[in-house]
Amino acid sequence: MDYCSKSYIPPETVTPYNIERLKELVEYGPHPPPGKTGAKYIIRDDGQRLDLRYLKKSSDHHLELGYKVERHLNDGDFVLFNRQPSLHKMSIMGHRIKIMPYSTFRLNLSVTSPYNADFDGDEMNMHVPQSFETRAEVLELMMVPKCIVSPQANRPVMGIVQDSLLGCRKITKRDTFISKDVFMNILMWWEDFDGEVPAPTILKPEPLWTGKQVFNLIIPKQINLIRYSSWHNEAERGPITPGDTMVRIEKGELLTGTLCKKTLGTGTGSLIHVVWEEVGPDAARKFLGHTQWLVNYWLLQNAFSIGIGDTIADASTMETINQTISQAKDKVKQLIREAQEKKLEAEPGRTMMDSFENRVNQTLNKARDDAGNSAQKSLSESNNLKAMVTAGSKGSFINISQMTACVGQHTI
Ligand SMILES: [Mg+2]
Repeated sequence: MDYCSKSYIPPETVTPYNIERLKELVEYGPHPPPGKTGAKYIIRDDGQRLDLRYLKKSSDHHLELGYKVERHLNDGDFVLFNRQPSLHKMSIMGHRIKIMPYSTFRLNLSVTSPYNADFDGDEMNMHVPQSFETRAEVLELMMVPKCIVSPQANRPVMGIVQDSLLGCRKITKRDTFISKDVFMNILMWWEDFDGEVPAPTILKPEPLWTGKQVFNLIIPKQINLIRYSSWHNEAERGPITPGDTMVRIEKGELLTGTLCKKTLGTGTGSLIHVVWEEVGPDAARKFLGHTQWLVNYWLLQNAFSIGIGDTIADASTMETINQTISQAKDKVKQLIREAQEKKLEAEPGRTMMDSFENRVNQTLNKARDDAGNSAQKSLSESNNLKAMVTAGSKGSFINISQMTACVGQHTI
C-alpha cells in the first residue's frame, strides 16, 4: 500500500538518520510556530524523562543516539480511531491523519457507516500507536481500506452516500451533458490526470461530455460488471433498456445504465466490492475518494434543492387521491357504526373489537398505499424528491405517499 512509507511513530528513537530532524522538533518544544511540528518530552537512555515545558537551558535540549523523543503528531502519521459502542471490528480502524486547525476530528463521510457515526454531537477516541508491533498491526490489519469488505457478511461496509450518491444518480442520466469548462474543472479533481482530455461524446455545435465519461476516468480498467438500477422493471429487457436501468461496465467503461445505491452501495457484488476484490483495497479507497471529489464538484455546479413544489401532484392525480382517502374515511365510519351497534362480524381467533381495529388498519393502510401509488406515478422525471428516492440517498415510497397524499391533506 502506498501510505506511510516515510512515517515514524512517536515516541521516536534517536538514530543517525533522524537526529537532525528531532533536534529541530526539540528546539521548537511544546509550542511550535504554526505549521511546524514540536515535541513534548525527551526520554534519556537511563529512562529519565525531561519535560520540554520546563527546560529553558539549551544545553538540556542535547540529544544522543538511543534517546527517545515524544514528538507531536504529523501529517501522514497513522492512528487508531474509535467510536463507541464498539460493536464490531470496524468500530476501531487505522487512519492516516492530517493535522488541521481546531480540535474537532474530521473524517470521510463514507467511513461514517461502519462507525455508525452521525454529526449530532458524537464523541470519538483517537489512539497513537506507541511501538513497532502496534504499528505493524495497525498497518496490516486495521487500516480503513482493508476494512472496506466485512468478512462477517461478505459485503462492503462502506459505500457512496448522501449527496455524492444523489450526484452519481443525476450525473449518469442519459440526458446529462457536461460542457467543456466544467469537464476540465472535473479533470482537475482527478489525481491521475496527465493532461490528456478524453474525446467529447458530442462534437457539434459545441463539445459536450456525458456524465458516464466521468466514471470512465475513475473505474479501474480491469472491472467488468452488470447490475440493475433500483427502479429497474423486469419487463424492460435487452442490452439497452428504455429507462437506462441496466448498468453495464466493460473494461472499466460505463457503457449503459444509471448508477444508484444498487451499484454504489454496500451490497454484495456492488462496484465497491468488485473493485476491492479484483484490484485491491487501495483501489477501492481511491475509487470512493475520486467518486466523491468528481461528482460533488459537478453537483455543486449543477445545483440541487427540494421544496414544497416537489410534493405536489397534478390536479387529476389530486382528485384521485382525494377520492381514495374519502372512500376510506366512509368505510371507516361504516365500520365504527357497525362496531358500536355490535353488528360487526368477528374474524376467526379475534374478538369483535380486535377485528374492528384490524379492519380499520387494513382500510387505512390500503388507502395510504393506493394514494401513494397514484402520487408516485404522477411525479415526473425532473422531480427532486423522486431523484433522491431512486438514487437511494434519502426518502422512500412511504415519505412520498405521506407528503403528497396523506399527512395534512384535507378532504371531507
Ligand atoms: Mg449521533
